[in-house]
Amino acid sequence: MSIQIDKTKCISCGKCLNICPGNLIAEDEEKKASIKHPKECWGCTACLKECSAEAIKYYLAADIGGKGGHLYSKNCGDSMAWYIVSADHKKYHIKINKKDSNAY
Ligand code: SF4
Ligand code: SF4
Repeated sequence: MSIQIDKTKCISCGKCLNICPGNLIAEDEEKKASIKHPKECWGCTACLKECSAEAIKYYLAADIGGKGGHLYSKNCGDSMAWYIVSADHKKYHIKINKKDSNAY
């Protein structure tokens, strides 16, 4: 499990660096976010939720899509949209109201 950061989309806001609980993301020489220790990422998705530039992808484990399947998110006001792109490039999405996201 790991993330990948698209430097061409990164706007150098620094939010992912500050939110990662493992301190796994750093700024590179161009001031763009870069994952320092990809193997240590445990997939909490906090950095995806913070990134307003849709620059971060989270690669899915083999048993839930794998082989290039990935996930990214988009903030839509009161909602968070999650996009899942499968290995065969099919795209699915779900929208979650942020106020209900921790309700059980
Ligand atoms: S949150 Fe997104 S835009 Fe901001 S530094 Fe991280 S990757 Fe770049
Ligand atoms: S998914 Fe979580 S652990 Fe992995 S880099 Fe992003 S914030 Fe850090």
